[in-house]
Amino acid sequence: MTEEQQETFSSVSLATRDIHLAFGTNRVLRGVDLDVGKGETACVIGPSGSGKSTFLRTINRLIEPDKGDVLLDGVSVLDRDPDRLRQQIGMVFQQFNLFPHMNVLRNLMLPLRRIRKLSADEAEQVARHQLELVGLADKAGSRPGHLSGGQQQRVAIARALAMRPEVMLFDEATSALDPELVKGVLSLMADLSRQGMTMVVVTHEMGFAREASDVVVFLDQGVAVETGPPEKIFDSPDSPRLRQFLSDVL
Ligand code: ADP
Ligand code: MG
Repeated sequence: MTEEQQETFSSVSLATRDIHLAFGTNRVLRGVDLDVGKGETACVIGPSGSGKSTFLRTINRLIEPDKGDVLLDGVSVLDRDPDRLRQQIGMVFQQFNLFPHMNVLRNLMLPLRRIRKLSADEAEQVARHQLELVGLADKAGSRPGHLSGGQQQRVAIARALAMRPEVMLFDEATSALDPELVKGVLSLMADLSRQGMTMVVVTHEMGFAREASDVVVFLDQGVAVETGPPEKIFDSPDSPRLRQFLSDVL
C-alpha cells in the first residue's frame, strides 16, 4: 500500500480466557488464554494438530468452545449474535474460500450487500476502493480461477477488510501458495499489522512471526505452553518442547 492509501482501522483488543474444547474424547483445547492489545499482532505457532485452527475458530465462534470466554475490548462476545460477531472478526483461510463462479468485484460485493446491507452502488464503491488498497483494482472483472494463488489470497483479505472488521484472524494464509507468491501476501499482512489492525495469525512463517508480532504463542497439545515477545520466544525459549519445535522448523 502506498502512503496516501494508508488506512487506519477501528480495531479493538482481543482476549481469550481458559478456552476448552473437545471433539469427543479428543481434548483439543485445554485452557487457552491470549491477550492481544488494540492494534497488536499475535502469532500462534505450534506443531500440526496442536489445535491452532480450532483455537482461531473458537474466537469468531465458527466453533463454540465447551468452556471459556472471548472478549472484545474487555466485553464477552459469547452471547452475541454469531453473524454480527463474524462481521467484527474477519477471517482468512489457507484455501481462500472465494466464490469461483463470481468475478472478484462480486466476491467483495456479496457480503457487503448481504451482511452490511449496502446498496449495490455503495457496495461496488467500497469493493473497488478496497481492491485498490490491495493493488488489485485491475482484477475486478476476473474470475478467481484466473488469478494466481497470491492474488486470490489478497482478494480474500480485501473481502474480509471491506467488512470493516475490528479484528482479523489468519489461518495459515500462505501455506497453500507457491513459494514465490508468499512474500506478497505476507507483506500485505505486515502492512495491516503496522496500520493498527488487531490480528491473530497462525503461521509457519517464523520470519513473519519474529518481525511482525507483538506477542507469540506456542501452542502444543491444546495448551499455550509459552507466550511472550518474539525475541524471548525465538532467542531464549524456556520450555524444552518449544526448543524442540524451533529446532525442527528453523
Ligand atoms: P492445527 O491447526 O494446529 O493443525 P487443528 O485445530 O486443526 O490443529 O486440530 C487439532 C485436533 O483437533 C486434531 O487432532 C484434529 O484431528 C482435531 N479436529 C479438528 N477439527 C475437528 C473436527 N471438526 N472434528 C473432529 N476432530 C477435529
Ligand atoms: Mg490448522
